Amino acid sequence: MIFQTKTKTPITPITETERSAFCREETDLETKPLVEETKSKARWQKIPIEYMRLTPDELDTRISKSKNKLKEKIIILGHHYQRDQIIKYTDYQGDSFKLAQYAASIPELEYIIFCGVHFMAETADILSKKHQKVILPNLTAGCSMADMAITEDVLDCWEDLNELVGNNIVTPITYMNSTAAIKSICGENGGLVCTSSNATEAMKWAFSNREKILFIPDQHLGRNTGKKLGIKLDEMVIWNPFKELGGNTLDSIKNSKLILWQGHCSVHTRFNIDQIENAKKKFPEINIIVHPECTMDVVDNSDFVGSTEYIIKTISEGAPGSIWGVGTEINLVNRIAKQNTDKTIFCLDSMVCPCSTMYRIHPAYLCWVLESIESGKIINQIEVDKKIINNSKIALNRMLALE
Ligand code: SF4
Repeated sequence: MIFQTKTKTPITPITETERSAFCREETDLETKPLVEETKSKARWQKIPIEYMRLTPDELDTRISKSKNKLKEKIIILGHHYQRDQIIKYTDYQGDSFKLAQYAASIPELEYIIFCGVHFMAETADILSKKHQKVILPNLTAGCSMADMAITEDVLDCWEDLNELVGNNIVTPITYMNSTAAIKSICGENGGLVCTSSNATEAMKWAFSNREKILFIPDQHLGRNTGKKLGIKLDEMVIWNPFKELGGNTLDSIKNSKLILWQGHCSVHTRFNIDQIENAKKKFPEINIIVHPECTMDVVDNSDFVGSTEYIIKTISEGAPGSIWGVGTEINLVNRIAKQNTDKTIFCLDSMVCPCSTMYRIHPAYLCWVLESIESGKIINQIEVDKKIINNSKIALNRMLALE
């Protein structure tokens, strides 16, 4: 047998090396002029200097004015992990799929300004109408997890798995947090996309058709979901894209049910058991609620586990006076706390670490893209290749058929 995967030097995505760029000990996440924020050790898209110097108040006036002028043509969407100073300008907020679905439901608007990260803007482009233009205010707003699954590596893995176990034995499932190219590979090969709310249903569907699953790119969501379905840990293998056969033996792959791509979220893997134990010592009656991108031990030691929308709903419906230790992104945790003043709500991680790529959507970028549209210039448009759109839609539609 000739395998495509070879052992190579591991490459860490730049978005992952920059993951701590905005971590701080104090809880101040107030927006400063971009010229100050760009002193952090992260890449920022170049922007005219005029915008870099504007104060938050000046930006506020200009964004509001521009938004008002363009109101017949644009919609501004905001992911829950965006900073408050962006959320306040958004017309609709949600998780990645909810936002993309919403984008698909408003064909009358020409411009979709997507305040989120790159893969989300791609999904909005896939689901929106041809005449609509999707704009990502800052092109360096990527996602470290999506960047851990490179198209060529996934294709090599796919070829090797088929060579080793045969065709039509493995179903590829990709989490929404992946590039359009990976969604397309799944669509083309009998697979589908899933979100953190329907990963269980997606796996059940896949197992009803084929024996094995290749789950890309989040190993933790894959493992936590597989465990929930009763798959034993020794029936799961990790696929390390930098090693031949993903670092596995032929037998371990043949005996596995779930092949987990070696990817993770740099925000959710910050949570650990010590943080949960400390929170429980301080508040014995606390409810621990975390996102399934957290590691298995964190998930196993939590009272509630679910998607971003689930976390928001569960806490909001909690009893007045209840206490919540939350394992998800800090901008969202702070916002839930502000909206639920009858409860005690805090992030399990005492270090304040926003998602470093989401955080790069600074109001100066929003102002820049809006004023550019006003002057007839479209910048930062996200356009997915036509063939990729078609195959990605197949994978997304298979997911929609689950619900
Ligand atoms: S929170 Fe994690 S998965 Fe979400 S955009 Fe940030 S790095 Fe990516």
